[in-house]
Amino acid sequence: MLSSSDQQALLAWYDLQKRALPWRESDDPWAILLSEVVLQQTQVSRGEMLWQRMMDRFPTVAAMAAAPVDDVLKAWEGAGYYSRARRLHALAQTVMAPSSEGGHDGIVPETYDALLALPGIGPYTAAAVASIAFEQPVACVDGNIRRVMARLTAQRDPSTKEVQAWADASIQRERPGDWNQALMELGATVCTAKKVGCERCSLRHVCAGHGTPEAYPAPRASKVKAVVWTAIVEVACDGLPLLHQRPKGGLFGGLWGPTYLDGEHPLVDGQLQKGVVHHSLSHRAITVHVRSQESTKSMGTNPVEVALSVLDHKILRAVFGDNFFSDS
Ligand code: SF4
Repeated sequence: MLSSSDQQALLAWYDLQKRALPWRESDDPWAILLSEVVLQQTQVSRGEMLWQRMMDRFPTVAAMAAAPVDDVLKAWEGAGYYSRARRLHALAQTVMAPSSEGGHDGIVPETYDALLALPGIGPYTAAAVASIAFEQPVACVDGNIRRVMARLTAQRDPSTKEVQAWADASIQRERPGDWNQALMELGATVCTAKKVGCERCSLRHVCAGHGTPEAYPAPRASKVKAVVWTAIVEVACDGLPLLHQRPKGGLFGGLWGPTYLDGEHPLVDGQLQKGVVHHSLSHRAITVHVRSQESTKSMGTNPVEVALSVLDHKILRAVFGDNFFSDS
């Protein structure tokens, strides 16, 4: 737990040193909620671009609720974790629904519990939005805060419950939104995983891990699984690929793409080998053997009109060349 003067020192540092991020200029709950959803598992530099694109396309919760989910997926294209885009659309529709039907009459709810009940919102996002948009004194826990807590208290493997209890006890009640952001900012820019900037840290005099910061927390074992697929890209008579929309519940659900087969399949008559594509997701290292084959169908799918994953962009470039998307 941090003292009041430690809290003031960190907030003073945050006021001077925080990064200029566009959502920090806004007090619109929708803009803040969108930023928190965008930043889940996305780096800040890419998150800024995606947030701006989503705000331009859906400046209000009503605008997103009124749009087809395919438009939300198209705007989200290239960002990965497409289930987030689908759940964001469901969230917008829940917010816009009348309260008599379990909705919120078009107003983003302000309590932690009401936010947590929305589609796609977990404990971190509910706490972030409640504190940043509505100044509710609820503590966030994310990877940055876990690392800061582990080092301040010199713990190798604090559990989620222990980190949450520390964050709850440490919350600054007058500026809870800035407080949560200050702790996360410290973890993102000073108390980083490597090249730790202890000499710039306003909490170093109370930090038990100061001196050996990289000992805390202990690294977690990688859970990345190697997978191999074969992609068959059928090409219609108009020169465009035949793409289909993937089932909602699976990988890249709701996006469009060619057929994948598990494993590496032998080349059969009528197919051309188009190379091998590699792609990384958070828990998968994917290798795709890419094949093309002609189809008797007259028309394919224009890829600029549907939402595609980054992996399928790579696969289609392997078949049609690097300029395929600019020429389509
Ligand atoms: S003193 Fe170093 S290890 Fe401790 S919180 Fe600050 S940056 Fe992290």
